[in-house]
Amino acid sequence: MCGIMGYIGQQHTQEILTNGLKKLEYRGYDSVGVAIHDGEEVHVTKAEGRLDNLASRLQDAPLQGSIGIGHTRWATHGRPSDENSHPHTDDETEFAVVHNGIIENYIELKDELVAEGATFTSETDSEVIAHLLTKLYDGDVVSTIQKVVEKLDGAYALGVVSRHTPGKLYAVRQASPLIIGSGNGENFISSDIPAVLEHTRDVYILEDGEMAVLTEESISLMDVTTGKSISRDLFRVDWDMEQAEKNGFDHFMLKEIFEQPKALEKTMAGRVDKETNEVDFPELAWTEEQVAKWDKVHIVACGTAYHAGLLGKAAIEELTRTPVDVEVASEFRYRNPIVNENTLVIAVSQSGETADTLAALRQSKELGAKTLSITNVVGSSISREADNVILTLAGPEIAVASTKAYTTQVLSFYLLGIYLAQKKKQITPEQNAQYMAALQEVPEQMEEILFHNDEIKEYGESIKDAKSVFFLGRGIDTAVALEGSLKLKEISYIHSEAYAAGELKHGTLALIEEGTPIISLLTQEKLYDKMLGNIKEVSARGANVLGVTMRGNVKVTQYVDETCFIPETYSLFTPLLSVLPLQLISYYTSLALGNDVDKPRNLAKSVTVE
Ligand code: GLU
Repeated sequence: MCGIMGYIGQQHTQEILTNGLKKLEYRGYDSVGVAIHDGEEVHVTKAEGRLDNLASRLQDAPLQGSIGIGHTRWATHGRPSDENSHPHTDDETEFAVVHNGIIENYIELKDELVAEGATFTSETDSEVIAHLLTKLYDGDVVSTIQKVVEKLDGAYALGVVSRHTPGKLYAVRQASPLIIGSGNGENFISSDIPAVLEHTRDVYILEDGEMAVLTEESISLMDVTTGKSISRDLFRVDWDMEQAEKNGFDHFMLKEIFEQPKALEKTMAGRVDKETNEVDFPELAWTEEQVAKWDKVHIVACGTAYHAGLLGKAAIEELTRTPVDVEVASEFRYRNPIVNENTLVIAVSQSGETADTLAALRQSKELGAKTLSITNVVGSSISREADNVILTLAGPEIAVASTKAYTTQVLSFYLLGIYLAQKKKQITPEQNAQYMAALQEVPEQMEEILFHNDEIKEYGESIKDAKSVFFLGRGIDTAVALEGSLKLKEISYIHSEAYAAGELKHGTLALIEEGTPIISLLTQEKLYDKMLGNIKEVSARGANVLGVTMRGNVKVTQYVDETCFIPETYSLFTPLLSVLPLQLISYYTSLALGNDVDKPRNLAKSVTVE
């Protein structure tokens, strides 16, 4: 998920690695490390925290050598710590490996390796790779890597050095990015182009299932399964550094919006039993008795995470018929909430450091509740203090306005709802199959929406001079309307409100004027006619209405000025799709206004104050 940098050549390896990792800092990380081959042995230095911590250790004990790998870790398995930082090695440091991604079957691999006598020094999934390399070593590092890769399920970009081959550096890519930089008498590996740009503009982009073997003078690419060599033209990079960090996107927010299909796939991976297609959360392992005991669920969160919580309520109530309260954490903490040992409290926070949410979590623990956190950052305070954690696995989110963290929170709630329903025996295998099929289709459906980006862009630009923008919905669409409205406020600074459409005539209608933009959500078939009634009310007052609706609902075009169709899915899951056009609208409106999209005024990414 985060950064890999590797080098082979005659320059100062340690410096090249740390400088390269510095260029990858924008990806977010919590610990760092390097391994350097000095011609005889492989030496590893690593440190929790920022690059400076590593730099000061390297200053005290510099590493010499002409081959090395470095890593910035964004923890997914095991908290950020010196031990969990990469590179990881086997017992004898025959191999050192850096890994980005997640090895989904690491538990079974680890059990097997431990039974055979391997000593693990970290809690990571990645360490199994180092031990497998030494276990399967057959005198040829390339074929050994091939054998290891055959055993791995999941996503991985790997950099490997071996004591046995002092003149070679190895790289493998499977569903996590990796590029090879081609220099003069030196070569590089990296998870992103910026890290090599100061050395070379000639790169190979590795594809999934490919391995590269680098010497100072050569780069050979091959299919990791068959070993067949691959010939490919070098790609000449002609963009500047900043653009490269954003992967060609103009802003982190847009990049993160487009990363959502992949992020959702990651959130789902490892949580769905491949044979039964049932939801499984190995990190929860709750028993049926435990689940049966909770007669109430409380969700506490702030901002966007609160909006995800509203959808969590809808999902858990519909799927398990257990009452759920959702509350803004800053309110919850100063009340006398009705929470006890029969309550499950779910704290939701992207950063896992949101001060109010953390306080609400602590209070719930004191009151005896079972606590669960849904967060994106391993080792964060909220993830450590809750009894259980569901990691959203969206990868680091840089833009202040949350997008992929939100949709992965919502997906986590859907999976949790199904999991609880399974434990409570409130879901039939047929329903389960239907839900899972629908969820598995969502990433591709998201791609379809993103493909129509240009049409949404036009709409976003068209509302840039609006005084106010209103978002309307009914049922779960109201929660999505709230999120769309918040997104617009955050980055365009246009006044906006979201309303349950039925509430309009109780006051808000007075604010509708000729030309007021209204973004109305119509994803719930049973509420279409009610929504059309509300749309008529605002149209009659001169509003300009955009309808965001399911593809089959053509009737709506007769009532609205513009329509944005989204692919059809099971009615509970429509928010995962309908929020995408709203995120894009806010992005393009903000852009048209010339605002700093990624860093809106007055706001911070991680709100660690009350
Ligand atoms: N899953 C690995 C870990 O938790 C790698 C995380 C990363 O990509 O940085 O250590």
